[in-house]
Amino acid sequence: MHSNRRQFTRSVLLATAGGMLLPPALWAQAITYNVKKGDTLGKIALRLNTSTSELKRANNLKSDLIRVGQKLTIPTGGNTNLAGYKPSAMSNYIVVKDDTLGKIAQRHGISVNELKAANNLSRDLILVGQNLRIPGNVARQTASTEDLMAKVRAATARIKIQRDKWQRIVVHHSAIKYGNVEKYDAAHRHRGMQNGLAYHFLIGNGIDADDGEIEVGPRWQKQQAGGHVKNHLINQTAIGICLIGNFEKTHPSKKQLTAFTQLMDWLQGVALGKKVHFAGHRELRGEQTVCPGKHFPLALMHARYD
Ligand SMILES: [Zn+2]
Repeated sequence: MHSNRRQFTRSVLLATAGGMLLPPALWAQAITYNVKKGDTLGKIALRLNTSTSELKRANNLKSDLIRVGQKLTIPTGGNTNLAGYKPSAMSNYIVVKDDTLGKIAQRHGISVNELKAANNLSRDLILVGQNLRIPGNVARQTASTEDLMAKVRAATARIKIQRDKWQRIVVHHSAIKYGNVEKYDAAHRHRGMQNGLAYHFLIGNGIDADDGEIEVGPRWQKQQAGGHVKNHLINQTAIGICLIGNFEKTHPSKKQLTAFTQLMDWLQGVALGKKVHFAGHRELRGEQTVCPGKHFPLALMHARYD
């Protein structure tokens, strides 16, 4: 999935000459995508967090048929490219003389990758007068430097992490608003999973666990394979993190996102000491799910963790 994603990012090209004649606000929205071998409208829509019907509307397509080399207009207005990321978390910025993506990113406390993802930019080229969307700094806008990792570190201090085993981290939503480790562990055992809770970590939403509380599951404590995706091989090497809630219907809380970023930062930066592949559950081939839900800011997390 990840090489695909990179390929995709590279191939999202800024609109050519025609686009540059548009007013800046429209120019920023004029993005074309060159169809590659193996692409379907569904795959393209998934990667850009837009929908097949929006793609069809934007390109006046009557059927789902696309061909290699075809240029598609990618609708980036509204919040389609950031999958429900709250618009209030976005601000606008007009590029002035001597600006670079690096300077703008630094001034707003975000990374160049986050800035590029929010604007679907494949290159570092920006133009004076161009209108950029500035995503909020996920960790900072969650307004807290509160350390939510104490329990995780304490639980992990007692075990030896099998660094070679873990190749991937998959994020999920629970799809229901209730739950915590104790309840899901019992439910998963009841469903015949002898190792209990299928995920390695749960992030509470203030109902059955505290808002933003990171609970450690028995499989992390025993460094056991997960049971959180259908694909057996992926389960062997994938750490599962599940945020409690149905993010098709509601947004993750700020504290849940803070907890998630703290956990991800710690996993990649400390526990595993490497940038393992990161994916939303639905991005894995053959899983047929909407998980972690359209309101989980997957594009921003990719910008941070790919
Ligand atoms: Zn899932």
